[in-house]
Amino acid sequence: MHIAYKTVYLKKLFPLRISRGVRDGQSNLYLSVADEGHTGWGETSPGVSEGAATPEEAQRHLEAFLKAYPDVSSIQDTYDRALAYGVAPCALAALDIALWDLKAKKAGMPLYQLLGFSKPKHPTSMTLGIMTPAEAKERLPLILKNQGIKTLKVKLGNPEGIAADKAMYEEVLRYHMQLPISIRVDANGGWSLEDAKHMMDWLVERHCAYVEQPLKEGQEQDMPELYKNRPLPIFVDESCRMASDIPNWAHAVDGVNMKLMKCGGITGALRIIATAKAFGLQTMIGCMGESSISIAAGAAVSGVLDHIDLDSHLNLNPDPCEGAPLQNEITMPLDVPGHGGRFKTKS
Ligand SMILES: [Mg+2]
Repeated sequence: MHIAYKTVYLKKLFPLRISRGVRDGQSNLYLSVADEGHTGWGETSPGVSEGAATPEEAQRHLEAFLKAYPDVSSIQDTYDRALAYGVAPCALAALDIALWDLKAKKAGMPLYQLLGFSKPKHPTSMTLGIMTPAEAKERLPLILKNQGIKTLKVKLGNPEGIAADKAMYEEVLRYHMQLPISIRVDANGGWSLEDAKHMMDWLVERHCAYVEQPLKEGQEQDMPELYKNRPLPIFVDESCRMASDIPNWAHAVDGVNMKLMKCGGITGALRIIATAKAFGLQTMIGCMGESSISIAAGAAVSGVLDHIDLDSHLNLNPDPCEGAPLQNEITMPLDVPGHGGRFKTKS
């Protein structure tokens, strides 16, 4: 089995601003695993909050682990050993995704079929970052109408406060009046408990379907209070990384947003799905700054999920990879062996 690494800078089409800052591009680490004539591909989108800040750091984690544990024939064992060894979840995601891709290619099956899932039925949302109302007015047709998408995730939690949140959201509503869309909100932990209560009461009357991460990671002690009389479903994202986090918050949330970079790949996602369902929670999948390889892996597990937010590859200029095409608003896995994600071949 031969493992190789490659770092690629991904430039965003539109810079993305959330409650914690702005990003116009980043370097991702790609990993390939070759064996018996097949090559599996994985990708990490590094991040401080996911345990490895750069591609170099992610690669160092993986190289040290694979030197200590070169036998990766069992994906489940490899996943458990890597986490115990201290490999950052985002770094582990690249290896785990590549191993699942390889397994499916060896079996000659699409990964979603190998995992026993159906194709996804729900459309992906497109993300509108924090911006001024004037910028939102200009941006909305570009990210929705031009892609043929009618589901929008609005980033709120503006550091300037909830008046700025409301002003931007009202621009979204003006768009919605002309061209109806489904709207959800992600505060990325940018609200206090009081702001969150106020904003959820305000949003429930303004076509919002649910709210993601209203309170900051670390402020979970206030979640039961917010949950008690909530007018809208609450999903956690930053507060829930692994399946083992779910029992802590299951009594105070309606759903969890999983990300392959947070949970260490497909194996972690399967455990989150099983645990969330055991607690009767709704499920959602999101993404970091990922290209089509990791997005294709996410799409492979999305057939069983309630909400989909697999759109980061659509905001790359260019996406060096392909394999997670939009079909009728759905980020669709391909009917080819593996997860379907791969580098574009130069023509
Ligand atoms: Mg989120």
